[in-house]
Amino acid sequence: MTTEAISNLKNFINGQYLPPTQGKHIDSFNPAKAEVHARIPDSTAEDVEMAIVAAERAFQHWSETKREARAAILNKIAEIIERRIEEFAQAESNDQGKPVWYARAVDITRSAYNFRFFAGQILYSHEQLNKIDGVATNYSLRQPVGVAGLISPWNLSLYLLTWKIAPCIACMFAIIFRPLRLGDPTSELTTIPIFTNPDIFASQPGPYPNTVGNTCVCKPSEFTSLTAYLLCSVLKEAGLPDGVVNMVFGTGANAGQALVEHPRVPLISFTGGTVTGRKINQTCAPMFKKVSLEMGEWSEECGGKNANIIFDDCDLEKVIETSIRSSFWNQGEICLCGSRIYVQRSIYDRFLEAFVPKARALVVGDPSHAETHLGPLISEDHMHKVLGYIKMAEEEGGKVHCGGGRMTKDDFIDDEHAETRERGYFVAPTVITDLSASSRVMQEEIFGPVVTVYPFDTEDEAVVLANNSPYGLACCVWTENGRRARRCAERIKAGYVWVNCWMVRDLTMPFGGMKQSGLGREGGEFSREFFTEAKTICLAD
Ligand code: NAD
Repeated sequence: MTTEAISNLKNFINGQYLPPTQGKHIDSFNPAKAEVHARIPDSTAEDVEMAIVAAERAFQHWSETKREARAAILNKIAEIIERRIEEFAQAESNDQGKPVWYARAVDITRSAYNFRFFAGQILYSHEQLNKIDGVATNYSLRQPVGVAGLISPWNLSLYLLTWKIAPCIACMFAIIFRPLRLGDPTSELTTIPIFTNPDIFASQPGPYPNTVGNTCVCKPSEFTSLTAYLLCSVLKEAGLPDGVVNMVFGTGANAGQALVEHPRVPLISFTGGTVTGRKINQTCAPMFKKVSLEMGEWSEECGGKNANIIFDDCDLEKVIETSIRSSFWNQGEICLCGSRIYVQRSIYDRFLEAFVPKARALVVGDPSHAETHLGPLISEDHMHKVLGYIKMAEEEGGKVHCGGGRMTKDDFIDDEHAETRERGYFVAPTVITDLSASSRVMQEEIFGPVVTVYPFDTEDEAVVLANNSPYGLACCVWTENGRRARRCAERIKAGYVWVNCWMVRDLTMPFGGMKQSGLGREGGEFSREFFTEAKTICLAD
């Protein structure tokens, strides 16, 4: 990949790199320097149409490709990403601002694993067979949906995009229940004779398109397109047939909206903000599209964020260490960050005494340095939004214990590029107390390195505070009392509750938000359900 190719990106359609039909590009910034470092296609409905046609053409062949062959390609994609991990980590960091070590350890490693995980899963899933003795045999199929539209945000760009691509193109079906042609025992399609009335298949044409895989058109975030672009070359090298995955770059309003409203795209998987998700849902509803919406709460007009509940019987040292990560990792730009911290009053002061110095000591700066904890925020606009919330907290009577503003060149000690850094969108880790639980800063997702800390007295109060939000993506509960942990976890209205840990993920488990944080679940069997249509076939005996 040459620098030239990276600086002027093209769409990836039917295995070809194509410029946007209208020839327009959008500047993409490196947020650590506030400099344009790439120009991405400003694609329109015409580009989206071309990508959909390519995906439709690829569908027939891909949906008939055996699962072993699909699994081999998915594993190969994972291998190549791992081989090119440094290149990917650097690109993700340049694009989004996160430290390179973080991109390497989290984003890129997990992106490779997304492919590996679904490659494994397609080999071992199975379907239902149900007999009503002497009457009928039922079996169910999972069939491909067709061309899927996959739309991803900027905060964990490749990680979340591959979380959609891998299950979408993998899909799953159990070969043992492939319909049989028992009338022709020499045919390679003949499998295990499980039906009592097999003649039913004898007259059917083969092959059956039952080893399913969808094809897709992806629309990565316009803020972070570089790693999705690099992924295109990986897909080619891995031997993925042309047209199975197409990448159309550009804005949500143009390329994204064209994809969502296209009548021949029956499924949309979206991760992003609630306001966008609502709009996508409104567009899809009249067409009865399958929709999965993974949403955080970042928007100008709505509120809510993940709670981090800390009881006084917790392992405080572990809580502090993990809460620093759950508050500030990726500059607080993770939809799972626990930015509303509730601490039982008896340890409230002790918590702050330990937590604030550790937040203050975090190294903010050059994303390429191994010792850097936080890079810049994604964009100038977003930085101003975050700073606006800090100002609002001060106006609402909040006490700012550390951070509280944009970093200036004097803050970048020992950095020979301090002047360049000052132009970047760096905000210091900020801890705020003394706000009311209903204040906007306590209610709205800031999506930056800013947390609020608030005391509570009883278990009931903690649960009420945690649930006091129209959103419900994730929550942490810290207590050494197992029964209390279970009680709280079951009462909290969030799609994922961690007890005494954070961001520990098992990809077989359902992932998604409650209330206004999402619609549907993805992960393991849940992704399989989403990316396929179930069909029951009833054969009379
Ligand atoms: P966003 O909603 O602005 O954009 C997400 C994607 O949608 C982008 O690719 C964008 O171009 C596209 N888009 C925008 N308008 C569109 C439209 N009308 N039609 C189709 N596509 C459109 O979100 P963002 O700012 O990129 O990401 C940050 C948000 O994502 C935060 O709120 C965060 O909490 C959330 N998020 C949620 C999860 C989760 O799993 N729940 C994970 C990561 C991020």
